[in-house]
Amino acid sequence: MQPISSSYLMTTTERPDPVLVRGNGSLVWDSNGHRYLDFVQGWATNALGHSAPEVTQALTAQAARLVAPSPAFFNEPLLALAQRLTELTGLHQAYVSCTGAEAVECAIKLARKWGRKQHHGAYEIISTRGAFHGRTLAAMAASGKPGWDQLFPPYPAGFTKVAFGDLDAMRKAIGARTVALLVEPIQGEAGVVVPPAGYLAALRELADEHGLLLVFDEVQTGLGRTGRLFAHEWEGVKPDILTLGKGLGGGIPIAATLGNARACCFETGDQGGTFHGAPLACSVALAVLQAITSPELLGHVRAAGERLARGLEACVARRGLLGSRGRGLLQALELGRPTAHAVRDACLAHGLLVNAPRDSLLRFMPSLRVTGSEIDAMLEILDRALGEAG
Ligand SMILES: *Cc1c(COP(=O)(O)O)cnc(C)c1O
Repeated sequence: MQPISSSYLMTTTERPDPVLVRGNGSLVWDSNGHRYLDFVQGWATNALGHSAPEVTQALTAQAARLVAPSPAFFNEPLLALAQRLTELTGLHQAYVSCTGAEAVECAIKLARKWGRKQHHGAYEIISTRGAFHGRTLAAMAASGKPGWDQLFPPYPAGFTKVAFGDLDAMRKAIGARTVALLVEPIQGEAGVVVPPAGYLAALRELADEHGLLLVFDEVQTGLGRTGRLFAHEWEGVKPDILTLGKGLGGGIPIAATLGNARACCFETGDQGGTFHGAPLACSVALAVLQAITSPELLGHVRAAGERLARGLEACVARRGLLGSRGRGLLQALELGRPTAHAVRDACLAHGLLVNAPRDSLLRFMPSLRVTGSEIDAMLEILDRALGEAG
């Protein structure tokens, strides 16, 4: 089939030519029948790979039963999902929305509400430079992506930014209006930036010391991606508010904001959304959670993550690159030169999808079910592409 024209789409991003038509596990095919090994996986949304049987099964079964009765009524998958998410996180209550940005937006509203009711009207949120929290205006204001402050001003006020990983800077930025600290446990879009060990635990102490809310945005790092169910478990600390998205729906748009008993202060009318908590997406999320919490999966993610990390390290040594970093199946390769887009394009030509979130950096976020031989095949193509374009 000939690709139809792209001229009807608003210009928002650059895309390569292939039109994707079908996926299965770690593989995806374009309209010309070319096959690709997919280490992007919808930006880590297809946690169980393309068209995972659990996702397809939950979708078709729920689609035939009840799709969208409106948030004005309870539905069974929503009630079950909220309960399951609170069990898994140890938090008190959940709000279910559709996208990561909405989950963050909800976290911001919850923190502001809490500040008004419980913390002498404080509303300011301290987040980190380089952070990515989504593309609504408030989520953009909370983000620290370079250049974003120039795109759509004026932004909602009440956001302050400090360097990621810098505890002292965070401490110094706290003032009378501060209500919450908002961080990703590992900065994802910024290029898989792992903070110094102890950072999250120290933020927990800092928040407690000042009576603030600690918000972890785990839209990217949550739900098994780093080899633990949640990345904050690596430091044995809990947030007051947690955002989840991406992998939660196994490719279907669904996101969640959770809070502990202290933080959950919404009242009737405070938050809503036409598609929020619809049974179709909730039933898929339940199926995804069941798969991710199966006894073998996290062990597999850790082992596969090790294999990927070792392979990337070897690549660094062989090709004289700057380094590699990450945790579990969220890894990055620092090229040390601005060739990431050329390498990504060479990978595409050889049947591999990888992501280049920065000029000199590639990111890898395969299916949590990626096999050892798929990782090896990826590393082989990557090495070839680096030889040609790196
Ligand atoms: C992707 C991402 C978001 C935004 O999610 P969307 O579904 O694109 O709105 C928010 N926070 C983090 C950490 C993310 O990685």
